[in-house]
Amino acid sequence: MEREDPGMEVSNFSEYQKKALDDVCRLIFKEFSNTVGVAFLQLDCDCIKLAGVSSTGDQTSPMMLVSGNPPVIDESTGEETRPVCEKCSEDSLDVFRTKNRGVIWNSKKVTLSRQIRNKIKAKVFDSDL
Ligand SMILES: [Zn+2]
Repeated sequence: MEREDPGMEVSNFSEYQKKALDDVCRLIFKEFSNTVGVAFLQLDCDCIKLAGVSSTGDQTSPMMLVSGNPPVIDESTGEETRPVCEKCSEDSLDVFRTKNRGVIWNSKKVTLSRQIRNKIKAKVFDSDL
């Protein structure tokens, strides 16, 4: 997977978020075959909203969420749980709190010119993903 402007857009992600993002992107690319990229919004609480987009800038997948809270192992069950983000449960992930956004492109599948990528980005981010 190729990331646009990696220095700017993905440097704010913690290690566990990068891994969670990779997993979600892989799933979206696999399940929604017309997906050329995954658009993401990172909010000020570090939660990330994301969804697949097509070459025409339309949404291809349901909206997904990667929590800003690291997973916690429940000691009694040994299972991994993700604490709910208080900010997000209060305002339902208000996009006005966005601090970082971009698109993770599925470069294995399709090569898009920068011009087309910019067009897709403009469409996606004008419509409040
Ligand atoms: Zn949050």
